[in-house]
Amino acid sequence: MSEPLAPQYNPAGIESELYRWWEELGLFGTRREQTGAGGSGAPPARSRPLPPVYVIVMPPPNVTAVLHMGHGLNNTIQDVLIRFERMRGKAALWLPGSDHAGIATQNVVERLLAKDGQTRFDIGREAFVERVWSHVRETGVTIVEQLKAIGCSADWSRAYFTLDEDLSRAVREVFVRLYEKELIYRGHYIINWCPRCLTALSNEEADKEETDGKLWHLRYPLADGSGHVTVATTRPETMLGDTAVAVHPADERYGALIGRKLRLPVVDRLVPIVADDAVDPAFGTGAVKVTPAHDPTDFEIGRRHGLPSIDVMTPEARMSLAAPDRFQGLDRFEARKRVVAEFEAAGLLEKVEDHRHAVGHCYRCDTVVEPRLSDQWFVRMAPLAKPALQAYRDGHLRFVPERRGDEYAQWMENIRDWCISRQLWWGHRIPVWYCDDERCATVVASRVDVDRCPDCGGPVRQDEDVLDTWFSSWLVPFSALGWPDDTPDLRRFYPGDTLVTAPEILFFWVARMVMSGCEFMGEIPFRTVYLHGTVRDTQYRKMSKSLGNGIDPLDVVELYGADALRYTLVAGSAVGTDVILDPNDIETSFAPGRNFANKLWNAARFILSNLEGPTRPLAGPAGDVVRRDELQLADRWILARCDAAVVEVTDALERFRLNEAAAAAYRFVWSELADWYIEQIKPRLYGDQPGGDVARAVVAQTFDVGLRLLHPVMPFITETLWRRLPGRTPEASIVRAPWPRPDARAQDAQAVRRFGLLQELVTAVRQVRAEYGVGPGQTVRVAVSNLGPESRAAIDAERGTIARLAKVSELIVGESGERVGGHAVLTDGTAVFVPLGDAIDLDRECSRLGGEVDRLLQLISTQERKLANDQFTAKAPAAVVERERQKLASWREQHEVLAKKRELLGCG
Ligand SMILES: [Zn+2]
Ligand SMILES: [Zn+2]
Repeated sequence: MSEPLAPQYNPAGIESELYRWWEELGLFGTRREQTGAGGSGAPPARSRPLPPVYVIVMPPPNVTAVLHMGHGLNNTIQDVLIRFERMRGKAALWLPGSDHAGIATQNVVERLLAKDGQTRFDIGREAFVERVWSHVRETGVTIVEQLKAIGCSADWSRAYFTLDEDLSRAVREVFVRLYEKELIYRGHYIINWCPRCLTALSNEEADKEETDGKLWHLRYPLADGSGHVTVATTRPETMLGDTAVAVHPADERYGALIGRKLRLPVVDRLVPIVADDAVDPAFGTGAVKVTPAHDPTDFEIGRRHGLPSIDVMTPEARMSLAAPDRFQGLDRFEARKRVVAEFEAAGLLEKVEDHRHAVGHCYRCDTVVEPRLSDQWFVRMAPLAKPALQAYRDGHLRFVPERRGDEYAQWMENIRDWCISRQLWWGHRIPVWYCDDERCATVVASRVDVDRCPDCGGPVRQDEDVLDTWFSSWLVPFSALGWPDDTPDLRRFYPGDTLVTAPEILFFWVARMVMSGCEFMGEIPFRTVYLHGTVRDTQYRKMSKSLGNGIDPLDVVELYGADALRYTLVAGSAVGTDVILDPNDIETSFAPGRNFANKLWNAARFILSNLEGPTRPLAGPAGDVVRRDELQLADRWILARCDAAVVEVTDALERFRLNEAAAAAYRFVWSELADWYIEQIKPRLYGDQPGGDVARAVVAQTFDVGLRLLHPVMPFITETLWRRLPGRTPEASIVRAPWPRPDARAQDAQAVRRFGLLQELVTAVRQVRAEYGVGPGQTVRVAVSNLGPESRAAIDAERGTIARLAKVSELIVGESGERVGGHAVLTDGTAVFVPLGDAIDLDRECSRLGGEVDRLLQLISTQERKLANDQFTAKAPAAVVERERQKLASWREQHEVLAKKRELLGCG
């Protein structure tokens, strides 16, 4: 590692090489801690206590997924936490995996088939499933390599796939247990149906989107011709399946009509008027059409009143044979137009209103979901939700930000049964077998395949459907650790600690994991759910492929490195807020991380090239350690600031304030260590002053600490630099370096105050220099008066530093007796005066300022005339006038500043 650092930081190459090295050393693995056996040279397993564990289960990406910025943010946050806890000495397990993603993956392969003009039905179930497997094997899990490219330190040796044999066994076990407890049942209900994917969906998978629609008011004549009842509907085509009209029993408008018949237009069928509490008298006319086969509320009304269900649609959402001949085969939206037209022609369309309402869309293909009556499998959720809700109420499960907990509780309180069967082929087939013999009709749910009926010995057939993808992923906190077996892994790593996720899957996944954990493990799977924001563009739109407003994280890695990507994401995401990036300006978007990496690199180049030479340890048993009284003010200050940074970063990470942690580490390394301390120690390092060994010891230690504090956020550059610090063995890695601990002995309020005043003084002089255009090569004199005790001590200790950093030729304690110059007052009341008489060419500065003042006066008077002109102010848009007024105000302000400057300089 003696080779000098390249002049420019160039992450390409360095990062992938480091990642390989980390993997070779097995630094992300958690198997060795499990037995207590360390690396080489560790004491025997038995004598060493096991370290405490820390576990994060990674939200498993879809097996076909490609990394996007949302994954980038989500996984960076997890990696920061896991690296932090690993450095704190915990057995930190980040458990990765991928999801077979039923609908999504099946869609991908169906699209491939469609290119050859085929559907899955053409090739049959077995061949299709084989086709999906080979697609999955061929493409591999691309996203794993991509997660490695951004530095994710998951324990890849444990990566699971939700269709693996072990996890499939867990799925069956869970299904059968719930079935035996009668928490899984098969029922004939209205479910959400995607007519494109041709499968049932859960309520969560049917995204409700606010949509501009219409409310059609249709007249249904009374059978005896004595009048009509008007019903309002957003889906007129479903009237083809109406089997009643319902009103509220207490609605006086309709009391006399209850029990009478209506003649249904278009289909010419008689339907009754029924009274039901479920009707909202305030909606529309208070009378509602009842279509038991196409609406969940109507389905319940139909059950209560023994109404028939007429399914007028095919699975593809075309009108079925149950619809009148002329409608059969029509698409649902075409049928809608035709129904409305027929009502209109018959004079039965009362009115049409605009109506904004929530419409369910398939979360995989965005097709409008159709409520559909069918036989499906459901999980009875209320009993499972109870302990999961209690865990939250008792404070065992907490949310960051806290308000998300309310959403969780609300969902749990209003939980509905979970439709888990999908009419797909890719997934866990439902482990239920039906006896073919109608007289026997045995149904059996089984952990192992069944080949004949246990009751009559006759042939059986397995349910055709597969399970919802989430039915396997809700188990991963324990199924990925060997459950249902009682494995050492399971005992050691369950329950975990933190779950980091985007809010979108709070109900799909997070809430259900809590339920399954309570049910099957008797314990919630994690203590904290950290919900981070969403990555959006500058117009506040979510980044997405379809909008074309995304930024590919790997492009950023290639251009600026993974550390720049990670730092920018972490620094830009406060708890409860979104991350805003500009897809049209990647350079500026990622400048925070890129600039910081460059700064770090440059600071390291200086430090590393100056660390050679005699040095002594800061602490330790040897008699040769640096004594406290050898430390200069600056040394004491940076050691105190370093300690403060350790406290701040640690505390922020513990509270999931990742952006605050990044900011605190940044401030310490950039503003304090690089900009002040390194500048201060240069004369000592160059041998111009004594105490070089002390300065070297202090800078090496504080830089080491700074790198460790930054490592979770910027793993690659910190490793590169840390390995080059003196005394590293070839195998030493910052990945497992101990997290810095606060050190009470480093606290030094006096040094912090004194060095702080010195910083103020230097900054004040620099400001005066900049303001009056004092050239960089020019020194100035400085007079300090009314000195507070700390200023006096700071000046006594650091005269040389002040002279060097502020380019001061003479520091006068007392009044200088001059009039012309710049003033400042420090926090402790010390007055600072920078005489400028001999630092600048007074005549030239006065005439330069004079010219500026004249120019401004000219601008001001023109502008005043313009704004006094009614022609302009009356005709121009208000915003333009306002802008012109602001210009005038700003010129007046500038003029005032320059005039005051001239006065201070004593210009004539
Ligand atoms: Zn769909
Ligand atoms: Zn049987």
